[in-house]
Amino acid sequence: MGIVVAIDGPAGAGKSSTAKEVARQLDYVYVDTGAMYRAVTLIVLEQNIDISDHAKISDIAKNILIEFRWIDDVFHTFVDNVDVTDKIRSKEVVSMVSPVSVIPEVREILANNQRKLADTDNIVMEGRDIGTNVFPNAEFKFYITADVEVRAKRRIHDYKKIGQDLTVEEIIEKMKQRDKIDSSREHSPLKKAQDAVTIDTSDLTFEEQVGKIVDIVKNK
Ligand code: C5P
Repeated sequence: MGIVVAIDGPAGAGKSSTAKEVARQLDYVYVDTGAMYRAVTLIVLEQNIDISDHAKISDIAKNILIEFRWIDDVFHTFVDNVDVTDKIRSKEVVSMVSPVSVIPEVREILANNQRKLADTDNIVMEGRDIGTNVFPNAEFKFYITADVEVRAKRRIHDYKKIGQDLTVEEIIEKMKQRDKIDSSREHSPLKKAQDAVTIDTSDLTFEEQVGKIVDIVKNK
């Protein structure tokens, strides 16, 4: 079993960019669990499956192959060998991902797949329930937050990159909806683990956020 660095927090707090750089500096494998929930959601949308059809959605979670590959220093997500990196960031997926992530069977399937990833490697895993549910005994746990406005402004560029123009207000609205569903669901909600170190990134530079985590891991 490898060492696990668990990083949780609400949407857009800077988890992904921070976790990727932490993994690079520590030479650990980076795992984006949000991309896994987004990948399932994309297929649900593409196949026009009703959100209330939990059995079909669980089958998708069970049967699709989600893989991560680094290509020219960019993190890519593949579903059954198709590159879905941009598609899983669309506003359509964003609007649907939290309702899909509520489904207990989907959570169980993905959490089990996530646990397997630590069998052989040291990992930095990022999500909503990593320190509380996927790896409650993780060696290192962090909870990353930031003001909602700061978080929304950071996201504007991400949407622009895939050709979708959203205002700060629209993004704030989407984030609030997502955070509300994510933190109030019954099965493994978004919540700070009691033993997690909180990092508020509102007033931190990127280097400072990364440095705080890397220092704690290296100094133990
Ligand atoms: O982190 P990201 O914004 O990509 O996550 C997308 C969505 O996936 C979250 O809003 C949440 O609904 C779901 N998710 C989850 N548990 C995780 C990671 C993500 O429920 N561990």
